[in-house]
Amino acid sequence: MSITAYYRITYDAVDAYKYIPIIAVYMPEKLAVKEMQKMELQSQKLEMADSHCHLDMLDTASIMDSISYGVLTMITNGINYYTNKKALEISDHKHVFPAIGIDPDTAIQISDEDLDDEINRNIELIKANSSRIVSIGEIGLDFKKASTFELVAKQRTVFERFVDVAIELGLPVSVHSRDAMDTVLEILKEKKTELVHLHFFEGNVQQAKEAERLGYMISIPPLESSKRMHVMKDVAIDHLLVESDAPAAGKTPKDVEKSIRMIAAAKRMGIDKVAETITQNTKSFFKIHGRGLMRS
Ligand SMILES: [Zn+2]
Repeated sequence: MSITAYYRITYDAVDAYKYIPIIAVYMPEKLAVKEMQKMELQSQKLEMADSHCHLDMLDTASIMDSISYGVLTMITNGINYYTNKKALEISDHKHVFPAIGIDPDTAIQISDEDLDDEINRNIELIKANSSRIVSIGEIGLDFKKASTFELVAKQRTVFERFVDVAIELGLPVSVHSRDAMDTVLEILKEKKTELVHLHFFEGNVQQAKEAERLGYMISIPPLESSKRMHVMKDVAIDHLLVESDAPAAGKTPKDVEKSIRMIAAAKRMGIDKVAETITQNTKSFFKIHGRGLMRS
């Protein structure tokens, strides 16, 4: 009888997303292979959703690979006029859905003279495609990048214009916020924005609880953070989404599996249940029920 060392895949409560081979069990080879296949099957069965990525920067092969891996719903975000148009082009409305906006980094690169025109032509693009897009994004504030009062003001102008359009059209907003969480929450609250997706959440537990109270969705990127671990533990799973932000944080949408594993560890829940709930959250928040194909 041949013997094969077999590692059970498990995860540490803190270090969730790493496969740690802690139990080496010796069993007959045939049985080991069977067990391995069972585990593989389990991970294949996960249907996942990526609530924020930039697919215009990925090749078709990586997108197809992500779909066959189980990421059946992806929301690709534009950041300027050019990538907004690309987001519309590459969306098949089966697996890939577009979000359109001007991100804070783009906002500060637009000259004062061009600002109004640039905002307007993107808003026209949104209005012309309002039934096709699932969110206004990527928009937001990034005080790490805005070094002067003028640049902050410019980011705010752009952000507020797009929030207003989202409210007008009844669409969600996908919000980038770096070193600006309080201001972002303040603006969204002031405008009584209801459909809010806080992408790449970097806030603390208190800010997360405030967002939860307001009915917002908190999005978990595939990057390690003890602060975010507390957020994932304390915020109800109904208010959580996952994202790869590929190719910025994750390499491809497949990396949402890391976020799912982190949530599973933080909440002491099964990976399957987390994947199922988060996928459902994504579809109902972005109203893509029935449009995404369920894996048979
Ligand atoms: Zn992004």
